[in-house]
Amino acid sequence: MTEKYDRPLPRFYAEGSRDFYEATKRHELRIQQCAECGRFRFPPQLMCPSCRSMKSQWTQVSGRGTIHTFTVVRGYEPRSVPMFSWPAERYPIVVVIVELPDADGTHIVSNMVDCDPEALEIGMPVEVVFEDVTDEITLPKFRLVDDVSQESA
Ligand SMILES: [Zn+2]
Repeated sequence: MTEKYDRPLPRFYAEGSRDFYEATKRHELRIQQCAECGRFRFPPQLMCPSCRSMKSQWTQVSGRGTIHTFTVVRGYEPRSVPMFSWPAERYPIVVVIVELPDADGTHIVSNMVDCDPEALEIGMPVEVVFEDVTDEITLPKFRLVDDVSQESA
């Protein structure tokens, strides 16, 4: 965190976003869960889409999951997307949708880190890692799980 973080940061528009990022700052992955019917949901929202309850809680999950799907971004044409006209060494960027089994299969959108994009496959096991990108914001990202024995559950 020595250099200024110059990528887009989350903004707290949506109900519950701040709660989500307060948890990641503590290096906890918490998923919003309906306090009435128990359904998990992501991204955070005010009302349960199943039972319309306004009551929710933030349930900590292990951060282990599987790759539901992913895409590899290899760069942008600077004139078409100026905000992403970063140096070539920042690419490729892997955008991933992770399925979280201990949140009833809820999907979370993130990035893969420390991986060979060419070696990724749908269904691979992953785990969350936390990147403290500013004093206020910690981003949850995912990496492949080397050891499938899940030793540190
Ligand atoms: Zn509900």
